[in-house]
Amino acid sequence: MQSALRLIYPPRCVSCGDTVAQDFALCLPCWGQTPFAAGLVCDACGTPLPGQDSGQPEYCDACLTRPRAWTRGRAALVYADNARKLVLALKHGDRTDLARPAAVWLLRAARPVLMPGMLVVPVPLHRWRLVRRRYNQAALLSAGLARAAGLDHCPDLLIRPHATPILDGLGAEARFAALDGAIAVHPRRRDRLAGRTVLLVDDVMTSGATLEAAACACLAAGAVEVRIAVLARVAQNL
Ligand SMILES: [Zn+2]
Ligand SMILES: [Zn+2]
Repeated sequence: MQSALRLIYPPRCVSCGDTVAQDFALCLPCWGQTPFAAGLVCDACGTPLPGQDSGQPEYCDACLTRPRAWTRGRAALVYADNARKLVLALKHGDRTDLARPAAVWLLRAARPVLMPGMLVVPVPLHRWRLVRRRYNQAALLSAGLARAAGLDHCPDLLIRPHATPILDGLGAEARFAALDGAIAVHPRRRDRLAGRTVLLVDDVMTSGATLEAAACACLAAGAVEVRIAVLARVAQNL
């Protein structure tokens, strides 16, 4: 039955649609054009760094310049080339099927910063944006990651009480100012946070302003520590 189904519906590359050997995989050319964040990476945001991994935590210039409210973080992809295309398809293109392979890549990248008993939480969308887009791509990723890692998931822990302006084109300082206090813990979910370490999940990290607002909200409401996992990190020098 399985093999008959595979004849009728052969596995397709999640990026270009060519046939591949395995379900939920990239074909070889697409894989080659998708920059995974491998090797030595910033211990706070997952940006690839030059040099060899010596086992000591190292940090990128952005995280050294602006200490983060969270302690550690990883990114699965560098936001460029085919990775950018996949992230945009998940976000705007109704390609919710991409969340499945993306959660696998996210789990692989985030392993070093995972801890038993963590609470996995997506960065929220404002409800108007959620209505327009119909799904929160960060919540699809966090659900897949929590399931695969065997961790608790709380998709509605964080809320955006006010609609925040579109941040595209703004510099880092303007982004941090616009998002200060923009994210809050849902009043009925506060009890889930006490004494726990939170893993915040988002699709893209640019300046880190959104993650900073989310991390500060968690810490203010009683979380002991916040770590982050993002699908793609925008490299600063791009
Ligand atoms: Zn392909
Ligand atoms: Zn960094």
